Amino acid sequence: MLRRALLAASASPRLRRLITTAPQTRAIVDSYVAGETSGDAVRVTRALRAAGLLVTLDYLGEDTRDPAQAAAVTDEYIELLGKLAADGLTHGGAAEVSVKPTAVGLFLGSGIAAGNIARICAAARDAGTTVTLDAEDYRAIEPTLAIAAELRAEHGDLGCVIQSCLRRSEADCRSLSGYGVRVRLCKGAYNEPESAAFTSRRDVDMSYARCMRALMNGAGYPMLATHDPRLIQIAGSLALLTGRGSDSFEYQMLYGIRPAEQRRLANSGARVRVYLPYGGDWYAYLVRRLAERPGNVAFFLRSLRSRNS
Ligand SMILES: Cc1cc2nc3c(=O)[nH]c(=O)nc-3n(C[C@H](O)[C@H](O)[C@H](O)COP(=O)(O)OP(=O)(O)OC[C@H]3O[C@@H](n4cnc5c(N)ncnc54)[C@H](O)[C@@H]3O)c2cc1C
Repeated sequence: MLRRALLAASASPRLRRLITTAPQTRAIVDSYVAGETSGDAVRVTRALRAAGLLVTLDYLGEDTRDPAQAAAVTDEYIELLGKLAADGLTHGGAAEVSVKPTAVGLFLGSGIAAGNIARICAAARDAGTTVTLDAEDYRAIEPTLAIAAELRAEHGDLGCVIQSCLRRSEADCRSLSGYGVRVRLCKGAYNEPESAAFTSRRDVDMSYARCMRALMNGAGYPMLATHDPRLIQIAGSLALLTGRGSDSFEYQMLYGIRPAEQRRLANSGARVRVYLPYGGDWYAYLVRRLAERPGNVAFFLRSLRSRNS
């Protein structure tokens, strides 16, 4: 309930002002985000790699309505890939990038977004690594999956994301379980209508387990993005049942969340990738992280109250 309310309220300019100007915000942002610049992102990537973790980098920002801005985001990714490659961080896909289609122009027309994503894919190929298209709210899913299918003809390793909260997702997982297809599975971080999505945690979790089974039974490369201990345990059991080696799938977690578990899994021989955001446009990302954890919201509300009293 609290999660849905916070996500719905996050469009309010007043809440945005409160959150972005609260003194405690910076510390929370710093725990989830690498920093403002690509230099910060490369520095943190280097540290994560040294700890045996793989990385996917996200340049923060979404819902771009301006073609020049969409092109600038594309250029930022291309420059980032060049810096990562120069530092030897992209070898074998060790560090890759995650791209939000609405940040590179999805709402300006899928041709614009597809063109920008194709440029990023070409730069990733030159750098020896891959691209994954993030999943955004349910209105963006169909055009995003269509772009992924179109571009996969030339960039076979272009990954996409399926959210278990959506009712359509189990079927999507089955159709995306073909040879070599890279699919990240997450629960879903957006406020979706009941017609499109499961609303109870239990239903979302059960859907995650079904989607995971479909992907692990398939011939693709599942990327299991969750911090949920029960689902991580089920993933391990499914790997045993399906005879998947540790190099044929990976776990993914967000930067700053359950870091000890990230290291534990990596030390056990699993492939573990950390999703690492950077950039100045962190508001929407932060709200989604706050909404996922009631404790975070309570802490935040307390800090706002003490500021206003
Ligand atoms: C690598 C990665 C990529 C993602 N990409 C997308 C995407 O493209 N599209 C999309 O819609 N969503 C994406 N998500 C977010 C995802 O959909 C969930 O919103 C988020 O991961 C929380 O769900 P959970 O599976 O961790 O389970 P939950 O049940 O929410 O959490 C399980 C446990 O994890 C810990 N935890 C979870 N969230 C937090 C937090 N914010 N702060 C502190 N502890 C926390 C807590 O211990 C909690 O009990 C991504 C998540 C990951 C890990």
